[in-house]
Order: sequence, then structure tokens, then C-alpha cells
Amino acid sequence: MTTFAFHRRYPPAQPAAGPAQWLVFHATDVLARADTPPTLLPGTTQQPRDVAVESAFFLGMREDTPVMVGTLPAEYPLPPGWRVLNLRAALGLAEAEIASLLGYAAQLIYWQRTSRFCASCATPMLANDSWGKKCPNCGYAIYPPVSPATIVLIHDGERILLTTKDGWGKRYGLVAGFVEPGESFEACVAREVHEEVGVDLTDIRYIASQPWPFPHQIMVGFMACYAGGEIVIDTNELVGAGWFTRDALPELPPPFSIARQLIERWLRDGAPEP
Ligand SMILES: [Zn+2]
Repeated sequence: MTTFAFHRRYPPAQPAAGPAQWLVFHATDVLARADTPPTLLPGTTQQPRDVAVESAFFLGMREDTPVMVGTLPAEYPLPPGWRVLNLRAALGLAEAEIASLLGYAAQLIYWQRTSRFCASCATPMLANDSWGKKCPNCGYAIYPPVSPATIVLIHDGERILLTTKDGWGKRYGLVAGFVEPGESFEACVAREVHEEVGVDLTDIRYIASQPWPFPHQIMVGFMACYAGGEIVIDTNELVGAGWFTRDALPELPPPFSIARQLIERWLRDGAPEP
């Protein structure tokens, strides 16, 4: 996975006054110039140029420049020449470094919006010296959630097993699902595959992971070898599944997704040695 010259600011702090680069969200959407992909916008540590954000926080340092995250209220009228993109569209258009920052920022914005009150006694929460919050009444403490989900490329040597869902059109992807309490990643892979497509696996191998900010997953990516069973789909989850050879692949997930990256890796390198 690519690494960037970005250092997240943790615990949270305020940057020194001066020039800054901004990611700006319009409610939950990403603000971008109409004629370019989403990118960092110029400004100072107080405000971005050209738009007036309602609230802001310091995400981290990119080289020597602070990266700030600002939010505009949903009713803020867009100036001419600007557009808003939902997060999924923005991640599909942005360069990898910007997409990574947008995903991180979006998760913290979601966290701030959904952690205002104690889940135990409904008292307003107080920030502690991390991104976490603590209830001043009952002491309940919470931190930004990260929910693990597994995703797996299933192969039989020559072919891969792809699935499609209602609303995906002609696009096919990989089996994925949330890790349940008390479950290992590998057990989750085997269970999800058995539930969704009815086949058994062997040689389940971890490959790579990817933050997936919808709203706060981390996708843990595997490859696994088909071990038996006929495809029987769970019709509550899927509308189709099948085996595909490398020269007859259907429409695939977008390039920024780990699903696509696992497929590209299999096309390039094949499966890991058993
Ligand atoms: Zn409480």
C-alpha cells in the first residue's frame, strides 16, 4: 500500500497560525471545484479561501503544511464554480492521497456528529485529550469506532467467484461481510462465503486492508481457494454469482476499492502459494 508524506495529528491540537490546506465538506458531501477532482483547497489555519466554514479541526501535517477540515452547513449556498460530491463519488475521482485524507476526515466528522450524547445516560459528552469522549455524569467513555469487515477473492486456480447485488447493474464484486463478536477474520471469511454463496474454502490468506469510510469500516482483504460445494446464493443479499475466467470478466468494482485491487492483484500475480 502507498504511504504518503502525511502525519495525522494525534492527540488533537491546534496548528500554529499560517498557511494551510483544506478539505471542505458540505454537510456530509465533499466540496470541490466544478472543473477539477476533489483536492486540497488553499487558505490559512483560520479559514479556507473563498468559502466560510462553520466549524473546523486540524487533521495533520502534509509535509510542512497543516491540513484542516472544515464543514459548511447543508443550507450554505454553493458559490458559482463549485459542486458537491457524495463521498463515494469523491473517492472515485480524487487522487489516492486525497482520497485517503477525505476518508479519514469523513470518519471524524461522522464521529463528531454521532457522539454528542452519552449512549448510557444521554448526558452531553465532553471531549477528552484524544478524539475520545467521556460522560461527566456516569463516566462512560467512547472512541471513534472502526468496524472490521472481511472481503475475499475466491479462486479455483483458473477462475474467480464473483457476486452481484440488487442495484449494481452489470457490476460484480467480491463476497464481504462484517466480523461478528467473538469471531476471527478467517472464520468470518469462511462463514460469510458459506452463507452468501454456499461454497467451502481452504487456504484463507490475508492480503491487504483498506479503510472504508461508509461510515467507519476497515475492509480486511483475503484470497482463498475454493474447496467444494455448488454455488447457492443467499437471495436476501445477492442477485447473482458465478465463476469467471480472466479473459471473460464482467464489469468490476471501481479502481479505488480493495475489491478491485484484490482482483487486479490476482490477474497480475495469481494466488499466493499454498
Ligand atoms: Zn453517561
